[in-house]
Amino acid sequence: MVVQIKLTEKAIAANVDLGGGLHEVAPDIAYLRAALVNVIFLGFPERGDREWVLVDTGVSGSKTSITRAAEARFGSSSRPRAIIQTHGHFDHIGALEELSAEWDVPIYAHPEEFPYLNGTKSYPPPDTAAGGGIMPKLALLFPRSPINVSDRLVAVPEDGSVPPMPDWSWLHTPGHTPGHISLWRESDRSLIAGDAFITTGQESAYEVAIQQPEMHGPPRYFTPDWVSAGASVSKLAALEPRLVVTGHGRPAAGEGMLASLKQLADNFREIAVPEHLR
Ligand SMILES: [Zn+2]
Ligand SMILES: [Zn+2]
Repeated sequence: MVVQIKLTEKAIAANVDLGGGLHEVAPDIAYLRAALVNVIFLGFPERGDREWVLVDTGVSGSKTSITRAAEARFGSSSRPRAIIQTHGHFDHIGALEELSAEWDVPIYAHPEEFPYLNGTKSYPPPDTAAGGGIMPKLALLFPRSPINVSDRLVAVPEDGSVPPMPDWSWLHTPGHTPGHISLWRESDRSLIAGDAFITTGQESAYEVAIQQPEMHGPPRYFTPDWVSAGASVSKLAALEPRLVVTGHGRPAAGEGMLASLKQLADNFREIAVPEHLR
């Protein structure tokens, strides 16, 4: 029985360390590890004001590190064209209110994620029986109540396009949250997967700190719909991506990554779903 899918060094995406926690994994894709979560910068460096896009906004308190990274990559006082949210969990929207106001940008998200971003609905409580370590219990302390950025919210268009980034498309990948989306670029098979699957465990404090490279389903304690979550991973694996940047863990790439992703999709119940729900 498969219980854990280790990612070898060969399956880790080659990256250029740009300093300050910022890493480049493609000429126009960089990510910042802001505490436990990744924030992604899409766009070529030095293109200037309104020529790039930010995906997710980290945990609360990340504003300074994100703006610093943005300035380092795109030039001082360079603002993005938009912010795109893969979903609205607290560790992905921490600096959203502050950054969207400062940059005066629209926030793109899936309409099914709107309730968590317009002040109308809280996420369900964590599954404290999810197992794997202390995090499912600690998750009781994590914020679940919605923020309200309704004046800037824009729905991703139904045709799958991403207006601020014409070479990318979005895919509905629910399960972890109802309106979770992933971003896909066919030309080089790059995938921004959010928390649809992740490349490190989020269940034990050790895993969270060390970020051992492993292929995992979405964070267990905060995933209420495992049937949809499994279907979403299958959908993403079927795209056969070459590069994946996930919400947690190091970006992965190549044949080793793809084999691991397919293994996860094929054995989703055993690997990803908490034992008490299988
Ligand atoms: Zn999440
Ligand atoms: Zn997350």
